[in-house]
Amino acid sequence: MKWKTPQPREYYAKYKHINTVNSLNWFECYELPGNVIAICEPQHLQEVNVFLIFGEKKALLLDTGMGIFSIKPLIEELCSKYDAETAKASGSYFQFLQVVNCHCHFDHTGGNWAFDEIFAVDDPVVRRQAQKGVPFEPLANQTDEDMFLYDYPAGFDPKNYCIKPYTFRPCEDGHIFDLGGRNIEFITTPGHTNDHAMLYDHKYGILFAGDMIYFGAIYVQFGNDIMGYSDIDKYIASLKKIRTRCPDLKSIYVSHNDFITDKDAISLIENALRQVADGSAEGTPLQDEKYGYYMDPPTMRQYIFDGFSIVAGK
Ligand SMILES: [Zn+2]
Repeated sequence: MKWKTPQPREYYAKYKHINTVNSLNWFECYELPGNVIAICEPQHLQEVNVFLIFGEKKALLLDTGMGIFSIKPLIEELCSKYDAETAKASGSYFQFLQVVNCHCHFDHTGGNWAFDEIFAVDDPVVRRQAQKGVPFEPLANQTDEDMFLYDYPAGFDPKNYCIKPYTFRPCEDGHIFDLGGRNIEFITTPGHTNDHAMLYDHKYGILFAGDMIYFGAIYVQFGNDIMGYSDIDKYIASLKKIRTRCPDLKSIYVSHNDFITDKDAISLIENALRQVADGSAEGTPLQDEKYGYYMDPPTMRQYIFDGFSIVAGK
């Protein structure tokens, strides 16, 4: 009962809920400023967010969720609802959808298999996952009953949970997704994992920061071929890079918890990471097999800061 809450998270009240027929009582959709729809999975501990970004001609999907249920029918529904001239002309909006991963953790890649191709950083861990998927064993604790807000959702068999292989298309730093009147830049930001990337929307100044900037637990402890490799120095360098690459940054949309995070989070997290890296922050030993991740290091420590924490290898 560590995370369970009887009430919906308060932050949902800030956003307009979208009713859909393909939500399967699992996904929830909200309208965000700047022609973006957030799709979330509030009934699993990860509370992961997926973003659907619309331009005049194309849409971009950032991540595909946990794969507890397929997100594709819902995305098709949202795309076909979107009132675009292109959709009317072609009869289908969906063929103009491009799908990108911010990194290859299971909670972001679970629905990848259903889409034609996935843009992501060219990294050995990504290549391996695209080819082989991730079997049940390393993800087993994610399917514990305690990870779910209610009982297991109807139709979900926890023993069959895995990440299926998918078609991966390497994407380079600086690549622009031109959605029609809206350019979205792919920016590589190693740190949380080596393959992590963010998206920067030049039209509205929105940074899609993935798992690297939010008020929650920030993870820099990974070090294996399934979960990838974290690097705290690269993490700090990536936050610095973001500041120079996104000078007109207006808001930050993030992949866990509340969809929109305060801009101050960048410098707060950067300072905290520096303190962890140089040894001036005090951490407490953490070994959480139940809520931790595959092959977490035995030397793991948690560092508590104001509104967020950092989980590091030592
Ligand atoms: Zn992650």
